[in-house]
Amino acid sequence: MAYDPDNIFAKILRGEIPCTKVHEDEHTLAFKDIHPQTAVHVLVIPKGAYQSWDDFSTKASDAEIGALIRAVGKVARDLGVAEEGYRVLSNIGENGGQEVPHLHIHLFGGQKLGRMIKPA
Ligand code: 5GP
Repeated sequence: MAYDPDNIFAKILRGEIPCTKVHEDEHTLAFKDIHPQTAVHVLVIPKGAYQSWDDFSTKASDAEIGALIRAVGKVARDLGVAEEGYRVLSNIGENGGQEVPHLHIHLFGGQKLGRMIKPA
């Protein structure tokens, strides 16, 4: 499926709707989730027009991929959850339950997160 340039994260990247930014670099943006599910809940996204992990892992440059991974680590350190631990998760496609069709990594932390998810 083609990337939808009108998805909500594309609008955030273009500055058309606001976000609470926690990190930005040449290739990535990280901001607080609007409906946090844990004490710390941040979304880390590539700035490029990538819908899925498949898309990103096949088309993104090494610099973009490296930046996303490093940004997750930096955000965790900056928000003070690196030592106690946290969870990263990415919902991909229909079976993954992805709602926003722009690749994003959820970073959850600031509390005990329990065990892994169960299928719905
Ligand atoms: P998904 O289900 O696609 O993995 O997660 C999408 C996430 O985006 C959800 O956790 C949802 O709360 C968040 N979200 C949706 N719209 C907005 C928005 O306009 N701003 C922010 N900051 N987060 C959003």
